[in-house]
Amino acid sequence: MKYDVIALGAGSGGISVVERAVSYGAKCLVIEKGKVGGTCVNVGCVPKKIMWNASHVADTIRNASGYGFDVDLKNFSWKTLKEKRDGYINGITNWYGGYLESLGIDYVEGAAKFVDDHTIEVDGQRYTAEHIVISTGGRPKIPTDVKGAEFGMTSDEFFTLETQPKSIAVIGAGYIAVEIAQLMQGLGSESHLFCRKENVLRTFDHFVTDELKLELEKNLSFHTNSTITEIEKTATGFAVISNHGRTEVEQVIWAVGRDLNTDDIGLENTSIKMVDGGIIPVDQYQETNVKGVFALGDIIGLFPLTPVAIAAARRLADRLYGGKEGRYLPYENIASIVFSHPPIGTVGLTEVEAEAKYDKVKCYTTSFTSMYSSFTPHPVKTAMKLVVVGDEEKVVGVHMIGPQVDEMLQGFAVAVRMGATKQDFDDTVALHPTSAEELVTMR
Ligand code: FAD
Repeated sequence: MKYDVIALGAGSGGISVVERAVSYGAKCLVIEKGKVGGTCVNVGCVPKKIMWNASHVADTIRNASGYGFDVDLKNFSWKTLKEKRDGYINGITNWYGGYLESLGIDYVEGAAKFVDDHTIEVDGQRYTAEHIVISTGGRPKIPTDVKGAEFGMTSDEFFTLETQPKSIAVIGAGYIAVEIAQLMQGLGSESHLFCRKENVLRTFDHFVTDELKLELEKNLSFHTNSTITEIEKTATGFAVISNHGRTEVEQVIWAVGRDLNTDDIGLENTSIKMVDGGIIPVDQYQETNVKGVFALGDIIGLFPLTPVAIAAARRLADRLYGGKEGRYLPYENIASIVFSHPPIGTVGLTEVEAEAKYDKVKCYTTSFTSMYSSFTPHPVKTAMKLVVVGDEEKVVGVHMIGPQVDEMLQGFAVAVRMGATKQDFDDTVALHPTSAEELVTMR
C-alpha cells in the first residue's frame, strides 16, 4: 500500500508527525509494535509524574504540622495508587485508538522493518511512502558486565510492581535514577541510590546539583563513587555488592541509560546511516542521509524528551505539507525539569558551557529558604542562577532547584529563547510574595 507518510512507532514523535501531516491532507500510516503512546504515556513521563505527585502529597502531610495541623501520615495504599495510575494511562491509550481513526490515520500493529530505503514490511505486508519517519525510541539498558545483573529490574518493570518494596537500590546517575530513588523514599521505602562518580546529573550546572547532593545525603542512602560488582539473590530480596560493601534490599532497579530501538528495524537492508550507540544522524530538517527518510525523537541522540520529539515532528510535517518552508527545530534553549525532591529546572547553557563559548560570562546567584518551606519541619533550600554573557548581559542560562521551580521555568524559557537581557529581567515587575520573584530581583 502507498502512503504520503509512514511513521515507525506511535510514541511522542510518531503520533505527532502523522497527526500534523493529516491535518494538511496527507495520507498517513503509523506502525506500533507495543502500546500506542510509546514510552512517555506508558512507562515514562506520565506514570513517573503520578508517582512524584504522590510522594509530594506525602511530603505535604509530613510538613503540615509546621502550619499547626495535627495530622499523621498513617497509611499509604500502593495498590490504590497503582490501580488509579493504570486506569488513567489506559484512558489515554484507549482514547488514542478512536482519535487516530477519527482523524483518518491508518494504524497497524506490529514490528516494522525496512526491506529497502522506501519500503516497510509488517507481518509480511509491504507499505511504501514518499516520506518515512523513524521514531522508534529506546528501551532501558541492563549492564552485561555485572554478575547477577539480571536480578535487577528497569524503569519499565518498576511501573508494573504490584506491591511497594520496603527497600530499594537504584543504580544510575541520570534523572530517572534520581527521580525513582527520591519518590520511593518519599512514599516510605528505604531507598539507596548508587552512582559511579561524586554526584548525579553530571551535565547539569553544579550550582544546582551541589544543592541536590545535600538533599540526597539528607533524605536517602546516597552511595557515591560506587562500582557495582555483583547483584546477589538473598532469601528476602537481593544484595548489591559494590566497592563499599554489601547492601541488602527488596528490589534493585537499573537506571543506567537506554539502548535505541534502531538495531532491529532492518537498517541493514537500506543505505540509511547509523552511528555508534544506534543513533541515526540527521540534518537540521530531521532528514537522514537518504532523501525522504527522516528520524526524530530519542533515536537522534539529542535532548531525549517528549516535547522535543513532538516539536521536531510537528515542524517536519509543517514543512513537508503545511507550506511552511524552512521550518525546523533548533536544538538549543530547550528547557527541562528533573522531578527530584525538590525539583530542578534548567534552560540554556551551564556556566561551564557558556565559558567555552563566550568571552565575557557572568553569573548571578541567590539561595534562600522559601516562606512556605521555612514553616515546615523539613525546610529545603531554593537556589537560582542566571548565566549572562557580553556587555549587554544576555541571559543564556537559567538554573534552579527548589519547591515549585518545575512550574516557574516555562515562562522564563520563553524569555531566554527571545534573547532577554538581565536588564529585561530587572525591568519586569516582581510577583510578590513568591519564590519566582527572586529571578527578577537578583543583584
Ligand atoms: P517513544 O515514545 O519511545 O516511542 C517509540 C515507539 O516506537 C514505542 O512505542 C515502541 O514500541 C515503538 N517501536 C519501536 N520499534 C518499533 C518497530 N520496529 N515497529 C513499530 N514500532 C516500534 N520526557 C520528558 O519530556 N519529561 C519527563 O518527565 C520524562 N520522564 C521520563 C521518565 C522515564 C522513566 C522514561 C523512561 C522516559 C522519560 N521521558 C521524559 C523521556 C520520554 O519518554 C521520551 O523522550 C519520549 O517518549 C521519546 O519519544 P519517541 O517518539 O522518540 O519514542
